[in-house]
Amino acid sequence: MRVLLVEDDPVLGQVLQRGLREDGYGTDLVGTVAAADLQLGVDEYDAVVLDLGLPDGDGLGLCRQIRARGLPTAVVILTARDTLSDKVAGLDSGADDYLVKPFDYPELAARLRAVLRRPRTAVPPVLAVGDIRLDPATHTVWRGAIVIPLTAREFALLQYLLLHAGRVISRSELLEHVWDAHYDGTSNVVDAHVANLRRKLDLPGDAAPIATVRGVGFGIGLPE
Ligand code: CA
Repeated sequence: MRVLLVEDDPVLGQVLQRGLREDGYGTDLVGTVAAADLQLGVDEYDAVVLDLGLPDGDGLGLCRQIRARGLPTAVVILTARDTLSDKVAGLDSGADDYLVKPFDYPELAARLRAVLRRPRTAVPPVLAVGDIRLDPATHTVWRGAIVIPLTAREFALLQYLLLHAGRVISRSELLEHVWDAHYDGTSNVVDAHVANLRRKLDLPGDAAPIATVRGVGFGIGLPE
């Protein structure tokens, strides 16, 4: 496993690098956003251990970039910023875990092992297909620059379709994932919600973003 360590404190950086190397990780140490960015373009990393306060910028921006580029790299933020809103911002930027300094090395090592056990799929924090974007953190949906107000169920439905863009989803799969086990209605409810969602998302003169595949189900971003 290869780890990129982004830490501008040289003493802490070297201590961490030594620890990670002893644990068997190929570990590269950089101290700036620019150097990290360069390194991420050159080598493929399984994980990034990321400090936030860096001399040439904020680690959060780098984390967002990693996700925007679709890199399947795990990101563990390691920072002195310890407020609830810092932690929420860090995780919503696409980090897999968040550890506050001061910390004990065995905890960082265990968290790193935990994130590296998870199968890596690069799901960006903001889901997008064409000009439709959905931000789960702020619960906002846009069509182009226009904010589209949705009910909670319509939002969940669109989120599920976007997460599985390019695939046709059956009514029963939607019922199972967007509704809950106690819902015993018919699949007509899916059609009704898809119809409402379409009405809100469709723009005059534009192709409908949600496609119906007769007898099968619905999909977004399906191949033409
Ligand atoms: Ca720092």
